Amino acid sequence: MDNTTPAEKQYLELKNKYKDCVLLFRMGDFYETFDDDARLMSKILGLTLTSRSKGSSKRPLAGIPHHALHTYLGKIVNAGFKVAIADQMEDPKFAKGIVKRDVVRVVTSGTLIDDKNLPPETNNYIVSVFSKIQKAQTHWGLSWIDLSTGEFKITEAVTSGDDPTIPSKILDIIKSVSPREILTTQSLKTFLSSLLNVSVKVVEDFQFDYKPSLDILKDQFRVQNLKGFGVEEYMYGIGSAGALVTYLKNLQRSEIYHINGLSYENLDEFMNLDFNTIRNLELLSPTSPLGNPKSTLIGILDRTSTPGGKRLIRNFILRPLIDKSKIEKRLNVVKSFYDNFETANSIKLELDKIYDIERIAGRLGINNISPKDFLALKQSLDALVEIVHIASDTSKPMYSKSISELDLLKDLFSKISMIEQIKESIVSTIKEDAPFDVNQTGVFVDGFNSELDELRVIRHGGGKWMSEYERKLVIDTSINTLKVRFNNVFGYYIEVSKGMISKVPSSFTRKQTLVNAERYVTDELKEMEVKVLSAEDKILTLEKSLYEEFKTGFVKYIPILQGLSKIISNLDVLLSFSVVAKENNYVYPEILVDIESEDGNESKKDQKILKISEGRHPVVEKILKSDFITNDIELSSEKYVIILTGPNMSGKSTYIRQIALITLMAQIGSFVPAKSAKLSLVDRVFTRIGASDNLAEGESTFMVEMNETANILNNATSKSLVILDEVGRGTSTFDGVAIAWSVVKYIHDNLKCRTLFATHYNELTKLSDRFDGISNYNVEVSESNGEVAFLHKISPGAAHKSFGVHVAKLAGLPKEVVENATKILKDFESSKGESVKRKMVGKLESPHTPQIGLGL
Ligand code: ATP
Repeated sequence: MDNTTPAEKQYLELKNKYKDCVLLFRMGDFYETFDDDARLMSKILGLTLTSRSKGSSKRPLAGIPHHALHTYLGKIVNAGFKVAIADQMEDPKFAKGIVKRDVVRVVTSGTLIDDKNLPPETNNYIVSVFSKIQKAQTHWGLSWIDLSTGEFKITEAVTSGDDPTIPSKILDIIKSVSPREILTTQSLKTFLSSLLNVSVKVVEDFQFDYKPSLDILKDQFRVQNLKGFGVEEYMYGIGSAGALVTYLKNLQRSEIYHINGLSYENLDEFMNLDFNTIRNLELLSPTSPLGNPKSTLIGILDRTSTPGGKRLIRNFILRPLIDKSKIEKRLNVVKSFYDNFETANSIKLELDKIYDIERIAGRLGINNISPKDFLALKQSLDALVEIVHIASDTSKPMYSKSISELDLLKDLFSKISMIEQIKESIVSTIKEDAPFDVNQTGVFVDGFNSELDELRVIRHGGGKWMSEYERKLVIDTSINTLKVRFNNVFGYYIEVSKGMISKVPSSFTRKQTLVNAERYVTDELKEMEVKVLSAEDKILTLEKSLYEEFKTGFVKYIPILQGLSKIISNLDVLLSFSVVAKENNYVYPEILVDIESEDGNESKKDQKILKISEGRHPVVEKILKSDFITNDIELSSEKYVIILTGPNMSGKSTYIRQIALITLMAQIGSFVPAKSAKLSLVDRVFTRIGASDNLAEGESTFMVEMNETANILNNATSKSLVILDEVGRGTSTFDGVAIAWSVVKYIHDNLKCRTLFATHYNELTKLSDRFDGISNYNVEVSESNGEVAFLHKISPGAAHKSFGVHVAKLAGLPKEVVENATKILKDFESSKGESVKRKMVGKLESPHTPQIGLGL
């Protein structure tokens, strides 16, 4: 006999449809899970596993309170599971038979949308990537979307032949957006899974086809064609975007209004930063896992106030510009704020009050916005209005003409009436103390809806009705002290003092006796009571439907909210740059020659200028404060390679990183830590720093070093900046010097790009004698009476000694070891060592040495 209950049957049907998901099944105030899902939940969430013995058998059960859904949801999806949320589709009170339930949303790590589960400073991207061979070329289509903010981008790349390897341009973007999920074809799955520790989902190849994808996107954006977005010709980008939207729509099972457009990311408009550089220069996170997150470039530059600003500054850092006019546009905004700092500060104080408008618009787009979100939006819009006042009201003490003329602010001024309109719409609708949850009443202001107002009057004890009824009874009974009252325990009652009970009419029914009074009810009063008590339910139902209506009407504001959040984020980041510049004494970097500029010999000559006076490392100077020693650099088309020698711990790495960071900061649009800085733009910054190995992927320290070097030599151009911190150290000295020598020679002769090479191989300082573009620099050391002091000052010429033993002593090596090393070193220096060195350099300098075979 089948004794499955109707609810069980309903559960099993849904579970059957969503086999690959953990099914959260709403039952009253709980989302219940059963069977294996329940066992899993108790493991992941530490929930108590109970069992339900109704129906066919005892089934394991674990539930989460409905109001805590978001907290648990994040934990489940972050543990790598997909969650299907089945809600009650009707009010159980009015349901005939079993309450209708259905899955309203499927959530994965890439489709989380609520603030509780998403760190404000990072985006939550899903990437879609595929390739297609056509006419002897492999075309790559890439798109990425953040469902929480609505940001949607596509790009493309082509490789010749039918090479299935993902091109580095595409790989670098995938790595830099650090997606939570990847959609791809079967053929790329294994590679992508090994590359990133994220869930990779396979989608059928046909889903990436251009035509259907185009239709899906047109449908999603509600447009006739994609011309308005300037993307129609990007067949492969569109293919990948179509697959992405299909995936999201399948998960979301409702409209996604805020995904209302997409843009093409032209990879040639930004500096392509590879993963090594992002890591080596500690742009976003410290290299060491225990390092201080503040000791990074973003840690220094990020003084933003808004979540959108925090996300944008990451984006700025990951995509430095290579266009002089765009960089100067940013720098000039920073300068305006810098020069009018008080005004900038008052704007910043308002930015502090702004919530994550972009994500609120996102929640509105998928019908998941709470009344509190509307209030947060209203507060944010108030702050925007105040910013407009500060910046445009000439009578305000904070007014500054140069700030008022910034395009960003003018853009904001032009939207003020719309801002007021949206604000008004919220103020006239949502109560200031509205609850977070729409399942509670009290969302709407009085006067918003007359039916609601009436129900509220009834619920509050009938207010007016009660006093009128009381007056009527007083007249009818001539009991002047008669009172009509309401309390939560007894509901409505009439109270008559003991002395007057003889006057009580027979229509009164006694309910309660007190010391000095009797309480009664009447039929009329009972009727009213039923009305009052059912008013609460009616209010909830009415408010829910009014809220649905209000949200739907509000959807039209999504594009303007998205536009506003773009302005706010840009304002926030550039203001943050000005604050950092002011506090740390940075300067406006002068950009000399654009990347594209080929015209005229004059600019060609200037193309390699990198001139920094009294430069500082933005992070190290914060730690060392006044102890930090500033340093200059001057590179040009004549002298573009520096060989930097100096003792261990003298500051070589700090110096070369500092040059790379200053260059990047300038191209991001930030002021820089120096007394002055002039530079011709670089197209990329390459770094080869530190010895780390990648044993997990079967690569030794030396192999990693060589891979990184190969990447630089194969991809750098004459406009790149190359930073090499020791190349060749991972192998024997002979091999190491030989490789390092050849690398520098290759850069000098072939790439001809600005290069800083820090090394312990003194042999390399001989390169400058043979190649005009190379100069030697060293870090000064003072040595007197056996005392060694590192001066951290970079000066022309080669270093003479390495002081390695000195550093070993400082590091606390046993005295015996240090003494022995000193003795051996002396021996080397006096005889054999020198001859070995001479021999090596002699060979390197002789053009066709068969023994080492460098082909010099
Ligand atoms: P190694 O050759 O052993 O890698 P290095 O020459 O690259 O050493 P760094 O790591 O750059 O040396 O610097 C070592 C230490 O010197 C830093 O931790 C810092 O404390 C100090 N230092 C570096 N540059 C400066 C500077 N410009 N002013 C003051 N102190 C500095």
